[in-house]
Amino acid sequence: MKIAMLASECVPFAKTGGLADVVGALPKALSALGHEVIVILPLYGSVEVAKHSVVPFMDKLGVWMGNTLEWCAVKTASLGDGVTAYFIEHDRYFKRDELYHDAWFNDFPDNPRRFAFFTRAALQLLRDRYWIADIVHAHDWQTALAPAFLKVWHWNDPVLSKAASVLTIHNIAYQGIYSADTIDYTGLKWENFKPEIFEDHGRMNFLKGGIYFADMVNTVSPTYAQETRIGPLSCGMAPFLAAKGDRYTGILNGVDYRQWSPENDPYLPYHYSAREMSGKRHAKRLLQETMGLTVDEKTPIVGVVSRFVEQKGLDVTAAVIERILTDMAVQFVILGAGDKGLEHFYGTLPERMPGKAGSYIGYSEELSHLIEAGSDFFLMPSRWEPCGLNQIYSLRYGTLPIVRETGGLADTVEQYNEEEGSGTGFKFMHLSEQAIYDTVGWALSTWYDRHEHIVRMRTAAMSKDFSWDTSAKAYLSFYERAINLKKGD
Ligand code: ADP
Repeated sequence: MKIAMLASECVPFAKTGGLADVVGALPKALSALGHEVIVILPLYGSVEVAKHSVVPFMDKLGVWMGNTLEWCAVKTASLGDGVTAYFIEHDRYFKRDELYHDAWFNDFPDNPRRFAFFTRAALQLLRDRYWIADIVHAHDWQTALAPAFLKVWHWNDPVLSKAASVLTIHNIAYQGIYSADTIDYTGLKWENFKPEIFEDHGRMNFLKGGIYFADMVNTVSPTYAQETRIGPLSCGMAPFLAAKGDRYTGILNGVDYRQWSPENDPYLPYHYSAREMSGKRHAKRLLQETMGLTVDEKTPIVGVVSRFVEQKGLDVTAAVIERILTDMAVQFVILGAGDKGLEHFYGTLPERMPGKAGSYIGYSEELSHLIEAGSDFFLMPSRWEPCGLNQIYSLRYGTLPIVRETGGLADTVEQYNEEEGSGTGFKFMHLSEQAIYDTVGWALSTWYDRHEHIVRMRTAAMSKDFSWDTSAKAYLSFYERAINLKKGD
């Protein structure tokens, strides 16, 4: 099968969240199963061109946006494992340090143009190179126009008409909703500006149009697929997803255990496994030293690595964390950035809770690995969580997740059973200060009073396998279904 992946993020080139991890790993897993995969992404100013050996590929690629011809160039690099990445180079749109917003987290006002252009350019690249894809795989609102371009403009095209389109929704809270005249810029025709396709209360909704036009749509866990098909977590998309029937499904993300496992973590000075755990104790000590915590093997550490956005529930955590740290024998470390109020709160928490709390406001790949390895528990009190990767990493590092029962958190963490000592983490249903307080308390009482259960849960957690191989096979059946549906159209 020939698969072209269009995405706005891809590890190791550009990342703000889990989307990048998925786009960095799934193509390699598909390639390992014998398929030909390319990834196309924008050349942001932050892509480290020299480090990743990004080289010129095409000097000029002409892209029709509505009635205007715009030009870009294309560069290329290897993603590894036989997968080639192509970069759409357009300095005015993409040569910025951040992907979507300025340093104050204000979205770039030209985002609709940037990503509509990128998506059309990616398809144009396939045409110019005569790359006959069986599947065009779009991700999130940024490339959700790909299925629409294919159906509206390329249905009769010798190269692109063969491609079935699939759309993966990594987070339905981000839909790409812009002023109505964006439709003119995209050239996607006013006849498609109606409520069942692009129109959303008088504006143009990229994701909604993508859902409509894609042959198949999925999200990144079965529970989130269910939640978004029926409820308020769909952010208004429930009727449109429900209308897709069984063309909308949930496929759990895999994780890249070459990057994320304690046996061979490239960022860790100490390694360990379920059989030999001493490296975890060393990592804990290093984490305590690095984050200014009291060095003490016996006190459990609760870790957090997260974007500071509404989704993650860290505002509720902020309201209760000092009470937890005062009442309980526990330490807390947090790494993240985003909401300025939360940055200030967590940034100054160590001053209020010296020796008990440590924080780093910003982005650090290295520290995120150390927190996974050195913590004993990992907290994710998300309001919603399409899949969530950190809790899956945590399982592999024997760092038991404390999570809200939602989306992928519900699908990947097994509730602790106090009678049997089984399970892989601690789950709560309703997001409230008290629920976080009680569930952290439950985890800590298990640590202090039933430590043999912690040991057993760690072993169980570390043996769970969420590798990409399984997910890639699920994607292949999903692609086959899309191809068959497309043939039947
Ligand atoms: P989301 O995609 O909603 O941010 P996920 O759990 O799916 O959440 O993925 C988050 C990814 O981003 C993980 O790989 C996590 O380690 C990483 N991450 C988030 N914030 C930071 C940060 N401040 N520093 C380093 N890595 C981070």
